[in-house]
Amino acid sequence: MNTCRNEISKDCFVVPGKMALPNQYFAGRVGSKFIISLRDSRKILGVRCPKCKSVYVPPLEYCEKDMTKIDENWVELGNEGVLTNYTVVNYRDAHLPRKVPYILGMVLLDGAETPFVHIVSGIEPENVEIGMRVKAVFADKTTNTILDIDHFAPVEE
Ligand SMILES: [Zn+2]
Repeated sequence: MNTCRNEISKDCFVVPGKMALPNQYFAGRVGSKFIISLRDSRKILGVRCPKCKSVYVPPLEYCEKDMTKIDENWVELGNEGVLTNYTVVNYRDAHLPRKVPYILGMVLLDGAETPFVHIVSGIEPENVEIGMRVKAVFADKTTNTILDIDHFAPVEE
């Protein structure tokens, strides 16, 4: 029970610490192929539903609309898309991937059905606009995660 937060006490003190928590998870067969393609080929893969033609990136095993199994219908997407929404992160937290303030955007790649969240960089928060074109900038060093795309940057037009 933490009574110190609510009561003024001379005996209370807080010792900040940091716990390391090693963990691993299996990205799944579909997720693994997606990550390996990013890492080894710098290509963004999605899957297309043969029934309704929706393209999902990151890929899914089943179509969200009609539950068709789609995990073998790979398509290669380009590195560019549209920013469909965004937020500016202004709170500090040790687990966050960037120093604040930074932009988290919803990026809809050309040809894809659904946007995904990623970091938008190379532009000041006050200049970001919904609908602007962005492109993937790949990381120099792989982390075997979605952060092999380091961020999305505005496309110079
Ligand atoms: Zn479908």
